[in-house]
Amino acid sequence: MKKIFLTVLMLASLVLSGCGGAKEEAKPQSESEIAEETQVEAAAPAQNVKGDLKIAMLDVGQGDAILIQTKKQTILIDTSDTDERDLLVSELEKFSVTKIDKLILTHPHADHIGSAKALINPSAKEIKANPYLEKISVAEVYDNGISSTSPLYKSYTKAVDAKNVQHKGLKAGDTLDFGGGVKFNVVYPTSEVVDAVNGGQKSDPNNESVVGRLVYKKFSMIFTGDAEKEAENEILANNKAKNLKCDVLKSGHHGSYTASTKNFVAAVNPSVVLISCGPEEERRNTYGHPHLEPLENYLAQGIDKENILCTRFNGTITITSDGQKFSVTSEKKEDWLDKWIAKKKKDKKK
Ligand SMILES: [Zn+2]
Repeated sequence: MKKIFLTVLMLASLVLSGCGGAKEEAKPQSESEIAEETQVEAAAPAQNVKGDLKIAMLDVGQGDAILIQTKKQTILIDTSDTDERDLLVSELEKFSVTKIDKLILTHPHADHIGSAKALINPSAKEIKANPYLEKISVAEVYDNGISSTSPLYKSYTKAVDAKNVQHKGLKAGDTLDFGGGVKFNVVYPTSEVVDAVNGGQKSDPNNESVVGRLVYKKFSMIFTGDAEKEAENEILANNKAKNLKCDVLKSGHHGSYTASTKNFVAAVNPSVVLISCGPEEERRNTYGHPHLEPLENYLAQGIDKENILCTRFNGTITITSDGQKFSVTSEKKEDWLDKWIAKKKKDKKK
């Protein structure tokens, strides 16, 4: 029955252009409007889809690195942490990445920009440790346009200058062309947030993360960096829910309870959620990601448990789309969710 229902919904979503880049209206929304607009379900993942768009959430321990390959370009969103570099470089080698057309750095925390400098302008020492770095070049770098005093931020901006790489800040309303008909529409941070922090307001890097919606014909996915409740609320206030609706949600902030609020998950209304975090013991995920609350919010939203995937348990997760259908594959098939939720509930009682 569910299959028939989903097929009907898939057809409905084909007719209703779903996640297209419709222009926003300034009119504020009421809760009931949000609920009404999210009635259209995201398309369910299909089997063995062959397509020109590949999105791989790389298994790079505790951090983010998402590889996007279109017909024309290779894009990397974040570079994981400095001490996860071996994992990042071996993943890039596995996907035969040599040229990164666009490197997008969501915010300057170490678990996102840890290897940016080494990718842009590797030192002899870095190449000795990871020889494949020498084969990689970066053409353009994008971040949130907010300058930081962190040594890692300074090291990559220095590398950008040394290699004369194009470097630009992204803000809500910007669109990047990923080639092959794939667009990346930036929904956060707003220019107000960027200007306020650059003007001296205290920085809250997670809530200044670059958030963008990738759109390829009928397929869409939202990339959230480490955006938490505050950023999610602003995104909800500034966008109509139908313009946030996506097939796939990149779980904000590694599946932390600080992100994936009910209203945000309801607006995005994905059929698939991808979470990036590392194994607890070996890879410093002392935070215990993913947390219970976002997982419960995904299930309450009606997302099937086999469509909630996490690098910690599933390894690298790859989405393939032809712009109509999409499929999800992972290195490891693991039925982790029920066990993990039971463990988290038990830990809470302690
Ligand atoms: Zn992070």
